[in-house]
Amino acid sequence: MRKRECVWVASVAAAVVAAAWRARVAARRSPAPAGAPRVVIVGAGFAGLAAARALAGRPVHVLVVDRRNHHLFQPLLYQVATAALSPGDIAAPIRHVLRAQRNTEVILGDVARVDAGARTLHLADGTRVPYDLLVVATGATHSYFGRADWAPLAPGLKTLEDALEIRRRIFTAFERAEREADPAARRALLTFVVVGAGPTGVELAGALAEIARYTLSADFRHISPESARVVLLELAPRVLPAYPERLSGAARRQLERIGVEVRTGAQVTGIDAAGVDVAGERIESRTVLWGAGVAASPLAGSLGAPLDRSGRVEVRPDLSIPGHPEVFVAGDLARFVQDGAAVPGVAPAAIQAGRHAARNALRRARGRRTLRFRYRDRGALATIGRAAAVGRVRGLELTGLAAWLAWLGVHIAFLIGFRNRVAVLLGWAWSYATFDRGARLITETAEQRRVEAQLHGPAPPDARVGEGAPASR
Ligand SMILES: Cc1cc2nc3c(=O)[nH]c(=O)nc-3n(C[C@H](O)[C@H](O)[C@H](O)COP(=O)(O)OP(=O)(O)OC[C@H]3O[C@@H](n4cnc5c(N)ncnc54)[C@H](O)[C@@H]3O)c2cc1C
Repeated sequence: MRKRECVWVASVAAAVVAAAWRARVAARRSPAPAGAPRVVIVGAGFAGLAAARALAGRPVHVLVVDRRNHHLFQPLLYQVATAALSPGDIAAPIRHVLRAQRNTEVILGDVARVDAGARTLHLADGTRVPYDLLVVATGATHSYFGRADWAPLAPGLKTLEDALEIRRRIFTAFERAEREADPAARRALLTFVVVGAGPTGVELAGALAEIARYTLSADFRHISPESARVVLLELAPRVLPAYPERLSGAARRQLERIGVEVRTGAQVTGIDAAGVDVAGERIESRTVLWGAGVAASPLAGSLGAPLDRSGRVEVRPDLSIPGHPEVFVAGDLARFVQDGAAVPGVAPAAIQAGRHAARNALRRARGRRTLRFRYRDRGALATIGRAAAVGRVRGLELTGLAAWLAWLGVHIAFLIGFRNRVAVLLGWAWSYATFDRGARLITETAEQRRVEAQLHGPAPPDARVGEGAPASR
C-alpha cells in the first residue's frame, strides 16, 4: 500500500472508532422510555455498581438504593486503618460515579426489608419503593461466631468508620505507651493482636509490623516502637487457608521476616479489655483486631429464600431466587455453587455476578430466557508489606516482589475514579520512598473517648512528660 492509501485507511478507521465511541456514550446517556420497567438495585458495592453500569442506556428505569452515599473499595480499607491512605482515596460518591447514566437514579436509603410478594422494598424511614425487577447486593458483615460481646473489644474491618476506629486505636496505643511509666502496662499497649489470618488479617498484621519498625521508629522519646509485638492468630493450620499451601508457607515466612509472630492452630477462647486468651495462654494486649468471620447482610432473611450457615442466599443458576424469577441476588450476599464449590466472596466474583444479574433482569423484562451464571476465576492476591505479597494470577503462583507488583496493578485498575487512582498511586510512591504514612491522625468523638476510658481507664499519669529523652531507649 502506498503512503497516501495508508493515511486514508487510518483516517477512516479513526472516524469509525470515534463514531462508535460517540454512539456508545450517547446510548449510555439516553433516558429510559416512559413506561419502561423499573429495576431497583439495593447496594452499590462491587456487585450493585457493576449491575447499575451494565444497565446504562438500556430501556429500563434504574434506581440504586444504598445506605451510604459512597461506593467503597474494601480491598484497600486496611490501608486507611493503618494510615497509608485517607478515606476519600478509596471511596467515590455513588451519585457521581453514575452521573452520566440518564436512565439511573440514586437514593440514600437503608432497606429494612423486602416484600417479594408485593414487589416492594421497605426502607428504615418508612418509605416504600416498588420494583418490577430487583437486584439485591448488600454484601456481608462481621461475624463473631456467636460472641457479639467481642465486637467492641476487637473491631472488624468492613466500613470506613471501622477503618478510622482501628486507626484511632493503633495510634492511641503508641501515644499512651509513650506516657506510661509501668513496664507491664506499656508492654500491653505495645502488643497488637490480630485474630484471623485470611487476607484481611495478614494485611493488617503486616502493615502493623511496618508501622512499628519503620514509620514510627524515630517519632517517640520514651518508647521504641520497633519493639512492639504483633501477634497473628489463626485457628486453621496455616495462614491464608484458602490459598494453595505453597503460597501460605511463603506468606508466613514473609510475615515472620518483618517481625509478625504467627500462631496457627490457635483457638481464641476469650477477649476482654486487657487481652486475649488463646489455646490456654494469655496475651496481654490493649489493641485486638478482628479479621476472622463474615456473615451475610441481614437483609437476606427477608427474601424468603433458603439461606446457608452464614446467612447467604442460595441462588439458582441464573442468580434469581426460588419462587421469584424477578429477584436476583449477587455478590457476597449470594451463595453460588460452581463445579461443586461455593464461589468465593471476592470483588471480581461480585462484579461478574452483578453484571450477570443485570443482564438477566433485562432479559426477564424482555420476556427472554435467562442465562446461567459462570464465574471466571482469574486469581487472587494478598499483600503482606513492602515488596511482599503472594498470589495466583491466571494459574501462575507468585510470591514476593512479582506478586506485590501484580497486587499494585490490579488494585489501581479496579479502583473507581481517576482521581482516586492518581491519589493512591502518589500515596504509595511517597510511602515507598519515605516509609511515611501520611494519614496518621487520631480523630475521636466524645463518645469514643468515654468508651476508651471505660475500657482502659483514664490516661496514664504524666510521670515522664517533660523529663526529656532518655540517653538510650
Ligand atoms: C477488609 C476487606 C478486604 C478485602 N480484600 C479483598 C481483596 O483483596 N480482594 C478481593 O477480591 N476481595 C476482597 N474483599 C472482599 C470484597 O470486598 C467483597 O467480596 C466485595 O466487596 C463484595 O461486593 P458486594 O457488592 O457483594 O458487597 P459490598 O461491596 O460489601 O457492598 C454492599 C453495599 O450494600 C450496601 N448496603 C448494605 N446493607 C444495606 C441496606 N440494608 N440498605 C441499603 N444498602 C445497604 C452497603 O452500604 C454497600 O455499599 C475484602 C473485603 C474486606 C471487608
